[in-house]
Amino acid sequence: MSGFSTPAILLRRIDHGDHDLIITFFSREKGRIPVVAKNAKKSRKRFSGLLEPFTVLELVCRSPKRGGMPVLQEAAMQTPFAQIRDDVVKTLYASYWAELLSGWLEEYRPQAKIYRLLYYALRGLDRNLAAPAEMSIIFQVRFLTLAGLAPRMDGCVACQTPLDRMGSSVFFDLEKGGIVCNGCAAGSNWGRLRISPGTVKQLAWIQENEIRTVQRLRLTGSAVKEGLLAMEAFVPYHLGRVPRSLRVLQQMRRQ
Ligand SMILES: [Zn+2]
Repeated sequence: MSGFSTPAILLRRIDHGDHDLIITFFSREKGRIPVVAKNAKKSRKRFSGLLEPFTVLELVCRSPKRGGMPVLQEAAMQTPFAQIRDDVVKTLYASYWAELLSGWLEEYRPQAKIYRLLYYALRGLDRNLAAPAEMSIIFQVRFLTLAGLAPRMDGCVACQTPLDRMGSSVFFDLEKGGIVCNGCAAGSNWGRLRISPGTVKQLAWIQENEIRTVQRLRLTGSAVKEGLLAMEAFVPYHLGRVPRSLRVLQQMRRQ
Protein backbone atom coordinates (compact mmCIF):
# COMPACT_ATOMS: atom_id res chain seq x y z
CA MET A 1 0.00 0.00 0.00
CA SER A 2 1.56 3.32 -1.06
CA GLY A 3 1.29 6.59 0.78
CA PHE A 4 2.98 9.86 1.57
CA SER A 5 3.73 12.12 4.50
CA THR A 6 3.83 15.91 4.48
CA PRO A 7 3.59 18.93 6.75
CA ALA A 8 0.30 20.68 6.04
CA ILE A 9 -1.95 23.48 7.30
CA LEU A 10 -5.64 22.70 7.84
CA LEU A 11 -7.66 25.14 5.70
CA ARG A 12 -11.17 23.73 5.85
CA ARG A 13 -13.13 20.72 7.06
CA ILE A 14 -16.62 19.55 6.21
CA ASP A 15 -18.76 16.66 7.43
CA HIS A 16 -18.96 13.65 5.17
CA GLY A 17 -21.75 11.31 6.18
CA ASP A 18 -22.21 10.37 9.82
CA HIS A 19 -18.64 9.41 10.60
CA ASP A 20 -16.09 11.04 8.34
CA LEU A 21 -14.62 14.46 7.67
CA ILE A 22 -13.32 15.76 4.36
CA ILE A 23 -10.45 18.09 5.03
CA THR A 24 -8.75 20.55 2.72
CA PHE A 25 -5.10 20.80 3.61
CA PHE A 26 -2.40 23.09 2.24
CA SER A 27 0.55 20.75 1.98
CA ARG A 28 4.04 22.23 1.83
CA GLU A 29 5.06 19.84 -0.95
CA LYS A 30 1.76 19.15 -2.72
CA GLY A 31 -0.26 22.38 -2.62
CA ARG A 32 -3.96 21.98 -1.91
CA ILE A 33 -5.00 18.41 -1.12
CA PRO A 34 -8.37 17.00 -0.11
CA VAL A 35 -8.10 14.24 2.48
CA VAL A 36 -10.74 12.01 4.02
CA ALA A 37 -10.45 11.37 7.77
CA LYS A 38 -12.45 8.22 8.48
CA ASN A 39 -14.35 8.07 11.78
CA ALA A 40 -12.91 11.47 12.75
CA LYS A 41 -16.38 12.85 13.38
CA LYS A 42 -17.77 10.04 15.49
CA SER A 43 -14.69 9.32 17.52
CA ARG A 44 -12.83 12.44 18.71
CA LYS A 45 -10.17 10.12 20.05
CA ARG A 46 -9.34 8.89 16.57
CA PHE A 47 -7.21 12.01 15.90
CA SER A 48 -7.23 13.29 19.50
CA GLY A 49 -8.68 16.72 18.65
CA LEU A 50 -5.84 17.63 16.28
CA LEU A 51 -7.99 18.40 13.27
CA GLU A 52 -8.70 22.05 14.12
CA PRO A 53 -8.61 24.96 11.67
CA PHE A 54 -5.17 26.56 11.08
CA THR A 55 -3.18 23.83 12.86
CA VAL A 56 0.06 22.72 11.24
CA LEU A 57 0.22 18.93 11.22
CA GLU A 58 2.53 16.24 9.97
CA LEU A 59 0.22 14.00 7.95
CA VAL A 60 0.60 10.39 6.99
CA CYS A 61 -1.81 9.49 4.21
CA ARG A 62 -2.63 6.42 2.19
CA SER A 63 -2.59 7.20 -1.52
CA PRO A 64 -5.96 7.30 -3.22
CA LYS A 65 -7.39 4.52 -5.27
CA ARG A 66 -8.23 5.61 -8.79
CA GLY A 67 -10.30 8.79 -8.63
CA GLY A 68 -10.53 8.78 -4.84
CA MET A 69 -9.10 10.96 -2.11
CA PRO A 70 -6.07 10.22 0.07
CA VAL A 71 -7.08 8.70 3.40
CA LEU A 72 -5.60 10.19 6.57
CA GLN A 73 -3.79 7.50 8.54
CA GLU A 74 -2.00 9.52 11.20
CA ALA A 75 -1.63 13.16 12.19
CA ALA A 76 0.96 14.64 14.55
CA MET A 77 0.85 18.22 15.86
CA GLN A 78 3.62 20.52 14.66
CA THR A 79 2.19 23.94 15.61
CA PRO A 80 -1.26 24.37 17.15
CA PHE A 81 -1.68 28.19 16.73
CA ALA A 82 -4.28 27.86 19.51
CA GLN A 83 -4.33 31.60 20.32
CA ILE A 84 -6.02 32.20 16.98
CA ARG A 85 -9.02 29.99 17.77
CA ASP A 86 -9.41 31.59 21.21
CA ASP A 87 -10.04 34.99 19.64
CA VAL A 88 -13.02 35.71 17.39
CA VAL A 89 -11.33 38.53 15.44
CA LYS A 90 -8.19 36.49 14.79
CA THR A 91 -10.34 33.52 13.77
CA LEU A 92 -12.20 35.66 11.22
CA TYR A 93 -9.00 36.95 9.61
CA ALA A 94 -7.45 33.48 9.49
CA SER A 95 -10.70 32.07 8.05
CA TYR A 96 -10.61 34.70 5.31
CA TRP A 97 -7.01 33.79 4.36
CA ALA A 98 -7.84 30.07 4.42
CA GLU A 99 -10.92 30.58 2.26
CA LEU A 100 -9.00 32.79 -0.15
CA LEU A 101 -6.32 30.11 -0.56
CA SER A 102 -8.80 27.20 -0.73
CA GLY A 103 -10.33 28.93 -3.75
CA TRP A 104 -7.10 30.00 -5.41
CA LEU A 105 -4.70 27.08 -4.90
CA GLU A 106 -4.79 24.25 -7.41
CA GLU A 107 -4.88 20.66 -6.24
CA TYR A 108 -1.48 18.98 -6.19
CA ARG A 109 0.32 22.08 -7.43
CA PRO A 110 3.03 23.02 -4.89
CA GLN A 111 3.21 26.68 -3.80
CA ALA A 112 6.09 26.65 -1.32
CA LYS A 113 6.40 30.45 -1.02
CA ILE A 114 2.68 30.90 -0.40
CA TYR A 115 2.77 28.06 2.15
CA ARG A 116 5.53 29.93 3.94
CA LEU A 117 3.53 33.17 3.75
CA LEU A 118 0.45 31.56 5.32
CA TYR A 119 2.58 29.90 8.00
CA TYR A 120 4.21 33.19 9.04
CA ALA A 121 0.96 35.17 8.82
CA LEU A 122 -0.74 32.65 11.16
CA ARG A 123 2.28 32.70 13.44
CA GLY A 124 2.16 36.52 13.55
CA LEU A 125 -1.54 36.42 14.40
CA ASP A 126 -1.01 33.76 17.06
CA ARG A 127 1.86 35.62 18.73
CA ASN A 128 0.51 39.18 18.29
CA LEU A 129 3.50 40.22 16.15
CA ALA A 130 1.20 42.78 14.50
CA ALA A 131 -2.44 43.78 14.90
CA PRO A 132 -4.77 41.40 12.99
CA ALA A 133 -5.76 44.12 10.49
CA GLU A 134 -2.09 44.93 9.76
CA MET A 135 -1.28 41.25 9.40
CA SER A 136 -4.13 40.89 6.94
CA ILE A 137 -2.84 43.78 4.80
CA ILE A 138 0.61 42.16 4.80
CA PHE A 139 -0.85 38.76 3.93
CA GLN A 140 -2.90 40.11 1.02
CA VAL A 141 -0.14 42.31 -0.44
CA ARG A 142 2.41 39.49 -0.23
CA PHE A 143 -0.10 36.95 -1.61
CA LEU A 144 -0.77 39.15 -4.66
CA THR A 145 2.97 39.56 -5.22
CA LEU A 146 3.75 35.83 -4.94
CA ALA A 147 0.73 34.97 -7.10
CA GLY A 148 1.94 37.34 -9.85
CA LEU A 149 -1.03 39.66 -9.36
CA ALA A 150 0.70 42.58 -7.65
CA PRO A 151 -0.87 45.97 -8.35
CA ARG A 152 1.51 48.59 -9.71
CA MET A 153 2.37 51.12 -7.00
CA ASP A 154 5.38 53.12 -8.23
CA GLY A 155 3.54 55.33 -10.70
CA CYS A 156 0.38 55.89 -12.73
CA VAL A 157 -0.58 52.70 -14.58
CA ALA A 158 -2.00 54.76 -17.47
CA CYS A 159 0.49 57.60 -18.11
CA GLN A 160 3.57 56.34 -16.18
CA THR A 161 3.91 59.51 -14.05
CA PRO A 162 5.99 58.45 -11.02
CA LEU A 163 4.26 58.46 -7.62
CA ASP A 164 6.45 61.32 -6.34
CA ARG A 165 5.12 63.59 -9.09
CA MET A 166 1.45 62.63 -8.78
CA GLY A 167 0.65 65.11 -6.00
CA SER A 168 -1.88 64.22 -3.33
CA SER A 169 -4.67 63.06 -5.66
CA VAL A 170 -3.91 59.38 -6.14
CA PHE A 171 -6.45 56.64 -6.87
CA PHE A 172 -6.28 52.88 -6.62
CA ASP A 173 -7.90 51.41 -9.71
CA LEU A 174 -9.07 47.75 -9.52
CA GLU A 175 -9.51 47.25 -13.24
CA LYS A 176 -6.26 48.92 -14.31
CA GLY A 177 -4.39 47.01 -11.62
CA GLY A 178 -2.62 49.81 -9.79
CA ILE A 179 -2.58 53.48 -8.96
CA VAL A 180 -3.68 56.23 -11.33
CA CYS A 181 -3.10 59.98 -11.25
CA ASN A 182 -5.83 62.61 -11.09
CA GLY A 183 -5.64 63.29 -14.83
CA CYS A 184 -6.06 59.62 -15.75
CA ALA A 185 -8.84 59.04 -13.24
CA ALA A 186 -11.53 60.34 -15.59
CA GLY A 187 -14.79 58.64 -16.44
CA SER A 188 -16.82 56.30 -14.26
CA ASN A 189 -15.78 56.02 -10.64
CA TRP A 190 -16.49 52.29 -10.50
CA GLY A 191 -13.69 50.31 -8.91
CA ARG A 192 -11.61 53.34 -8.04
CA LEU A 193 -10.69 54.33 -4.48
CA ARG A 194 -8.92 57.43 -3.28
CA ILE A 195 -5.67 56.51 -1.55
CA SER A 196 -2.99 58.71 -0.01
CA PRO A 197 0.57 58.64 -1.39
CA GLY A 198 1.80 57.72 2.11
CA THR A 199 -0.33 54.56 2.13
CA VAL A 200 0.84 53.65 -1.38
CA LYS A 201 4.47 53.90 -0.22
CA GLN A 202 3.82 51.62 2.76
CA LEU A 203 2.03 49.04 0.59
CA ALA A 204 4.83 49.20 -2.00
CA TRP A 205 7.38 48.53 0.71
CA ILE A 206 5.43 45.43 1.81
CA GLN A 207 5.39 44.27 -1.83
CA GLU A 208 9.16 44.34 -1.98
CA ASN A 209 10.03 42.61 1.27
CA GLU A 210 9.57 39.20 2.88
CA ILE A 211 6.84 38.68 5.47
CA ARG A 212 9.37 38.17 8.27
CA THR A 213 10.77 41.64 7.59
CA VAL A 214 7.47 43.44 7.10
CA GLN A 215 5.63 41.93 10.06
CA ARG A 216 7.63 44.30 12.30
CA LEU A 217 6.35 47.29 10.35
CA ARG A 218 3.84 49.54 12.11
CA LEU A 219 1.44 51.01 9.60
CA THR A 220 -0.10 54.41 10.28
CA GLY A 221 -3.80 54.47 11.21
CA SER A 222 -4.84 55.87 7.84
CA ALA A 223 -2.68 53.32 6.00
CA VAL A 224 -4.46 50.48 7.85
CA LYS A 225 -7.86 51.91 6.90
CA GLU A 226 -7.01 52.64 3.26
CA GLY A 227 -4.87 49.52 2.86
CA LEU A 228 -7.67 47.22 4.06
CA LEU A 229 -10.20 48.92 1.76
CA ALA A 230 -7.90 48.62 -1.25
CA MET A 231 -6.77 45.03 -0.64
CA GLU A 232 -10.21 43.72 0.37
CA ALA A 233 -11.52 45.12 -2.92
CA PHE A 234 -8.60 44.07 -5.13
CA VAL A 235 -8.25 40.45 -3.92
CA PRO A 236 -11.96 39.53 -4.48
CA TYR A 237 -11.82 41.36 -7.83
CA HIS A 238 -9.11 38.91 -8.92
CA LEU A 239 -10.77 35.87 -7.34
CA GLY A 240 -14.02 36.75 -9.10
CA ARG A 241 -15.99 36.42 -5.86
CA VAL A 242 -16.12 37.78 -2.30
CA PRO A 243 -15.16 35.07 0.23
CA ARG A 244 -17.98 34.45 2.71
CA SER A 245 -15.69 34.94 5.71
CA LEU A 246 -14.62 38.34 4.35
CA ARG A 247 -18.27 39.45 4.29
CA VAL A 248 -18.63 38.32 7.93
CA LEU A 249 -15.44 40.17 8.88
CA GLN A 250 -16.61 43.38 7.20
CA GLN A 251 -20.05 43.11 8.86
CA MET A 252 -18.39 42.71 12.24
CA ARG A 253 -16.28 45.84 11.68
CA ARG A 254 -19.38 47.90 10.93
CA GLN A 255 -21.00 46.95 14.24
ZN1 LIG B 1 -1.81 59.18 -15.22
